[in-house]
Amino acid sequence: MKIFLITLAALLLPGTQSIAATQEAVTVSPAGSQPTTLGAPEYFTGTAKVDSRFKGSPPARISGGTVSFEAGARTAWHTHPLGQTLIVSSGTGWVQEWEKSAQPIKTGDVVWIPPGVKHWHGASATEPMVHIAVSESQDGKTVTWMEKVTDEQYPH
Ligand code: MN
Repeated sequence: MKIFLITLAALLLPGTQSIAATQEAVTVSPAGSQPTTLGAPEYFTGTAKVDSRFKGSPPARISGGTVSFEAGARTAWHTHPLGQTLIVSSGTGWVQEWEKSAQPIKTGDVVWIPPGVKHWHGASATEPMVHIAVSESQDGKTVTWMEKVTDEQYPH
């Protein structure tokens, strides 16, 4: 009976050894260890720098980075197949959905952009803005780029 109970316990309580064998190690990417990249001029107006990029390994689909927009800088119009979260870490800026009014954003604000919704985001005309951008990929894609935001469309 005792042996039976021990065997039962071994079956019901999963060992950690087999799980550990398939696990990856926790990774720290130190600040400044990745080069700053510039937002591509065909997809950004003005200067936007990307730092602290991150990407989960499959089956995770998450990726993103910290984007610093100079005053007046903004993305082109675009969509995300599985949506996007923005966390504003400093400054003031705008997010605008196609055919809707631009919404002001500031430090600490959290923005959710639903899948497939055409939009842009960027700094205000007079102040820089930094946000952390997080999205998930679908079929290897996180974004579909469209036309640039014109000076007439940009809030002023
Ligand atoms: Mn976006």
